[in-house]
Amino acid sequence: MKYYLLTLGCQMNHSDSERVKRVLEGMGYQECDKEKDANVIGILACSVRQKAIDKVYSKIAEWNKRKQSHNLITFISGCILPTDKEQFLKLFDMVFAMRELPQFPQMLSQYGITTPSGLVNENLNPKEEINFFWKVKPKYNSSFEAFIPIQNGCDKFCSFCAVPYTRGREVSRPSKEILEEVKGLVAKGYKSITLLGQNVNSYGLDKKGGEISFAQLLEAIGQIGESTKNLFWVYFTSPHPRDMNREVIEVIARYKCLANQIHLPLQSGDDKVLIKMNRKHSLKKYRESVDAVRELLPEATLFTDIIVGFSGESEEQFQNTRKAFKEFQYNMAYIAMYSKRPGAAAYSWDDDVDATIKKQRFELLTEDLAAGSLNYNKQLLNSEFTLLVRDSDRKKGYLTGHTEGKLIVRFQSDDLNLIGEFVKIKISSAAKFSLEGELVAADKFQDKLEV
Ligand code: SF4
Repeated sequence: MKYYLLTLGCQMNHSDSERVKRVLEGMGYQECDKEKDANVIGILACSVRQKAIDKVYSKIAEWNKRKQSHNLITFISGCILPTDKEQFLKLFDMVFAMRELPQFPQMLSQYGITTPSGLVNENLNPKEEINFFWKVKPKYNSSFEAFIPIQNGCDKFCSFCAVPYTRGREVSRPSKEILEEVKGLVAKGYKSITLLGQNVNSYGLDKKGGEISFAQLLEAIGQIGESTKNLFWVYFTSPHPRDMNREVIEVIARYKCLANQIHLPLQSGDDKVLIKMNRKHSLKKYRESVDAVRELLPEATLFTDIIVGFSGESEEQFQNTRKAFKEFQYNMAYIAMYSKRPGAAAYSWDDDVDATIKKQRFELLTEDLAAGSLNYNKQLLNSEFTLLVRDSDRKKGYLTGHTEGKLIVRFQSDDLNLIGEFVKIKISSAAKFSLEGELVAADKFQDKLEV
């Protein structure tokens, strides 16, 4: 019996898919890479973007047609808005919230006898159910980089975002479990570990003193790093600027395994737009965090997320975002042109910035980013870096990887055994968003590498 799983959306869904796979394989199903070979097909959906929802509808229409000649069971989980859920119940054999995953084998084995919703344990509240979900051991998609969910849901209610409605309120995973998962991965030689959550640095706040803080969690992970010879880098995404504090940055500065890379979403460089976005922080508050990063982590790279053309964004407000870009000198920014997201508060507001203006703003900001990034990258020429080799590069005969700061570097080598290993690289040329280097040492004994 085979299964095929289609995962849409963000890293959180991709992390969840590792647990879904483990449950299916625990039931004896084998993963296949072609939909046509599968007996069970599932989607981890993303209701946040209309494009992803359109894809769900087109896929299920195709699969339901195939049911006429094949024995096929379909399911859907992930980020689903209540309005979409009603439609999906009519189209899929099973619809369940990710926190109900531990009950999935029961649903699947009894499929056709009992409706899935009837099997949900009504004695458990959603917060208790997510704790059961986290106990499911994931089937990691990679042998050297892993994502660890530390928190689920969001209390922030940004006006452009539907996540609080699809994933519910913030719930922190018990720190004991997180630390065990980190220890297990480090013992297996994992090199890159990313702590995942909608607001990772709000970690523990929902437990009101009953759980350690995010800074304390990082401290405990830092100590795991100190107790082993294995080199690994720990990242986290995404923190919320409102809950960012100096203590978190001080902890990162103390421990070698906590990576010198900060991804701090700004979304807009204008205070009035930030208020309209309901971001709950000002540019001044954001600046304090960036100043602390520059002071305590001078080597750190800085990434961000930006939305251009949000409802009512004026030219002057956009120019304030450009000014913020200049001031904060990002290495990378994920820039999105605003589009209404079903379920979000701003869905009913006018999407009144013309599409051509949005495109112009997107291009201007991308140019600003490219100029800043190129300038930064040029200063790295002839410097040596430790690189985690991740894959073959598009350029034939080259491999690609990233530095601790997640700067992409490619180098000439066709030794595929290096994928998943640390190597030492000397930067030989710099481009806008990438670097090229020469292999200095491909020694796989990582404790010989300087970090
Ligand atoms: S912080 Fe804002 S953007 Fe991030 S998940 Fe929560 S509501 Fe969405």
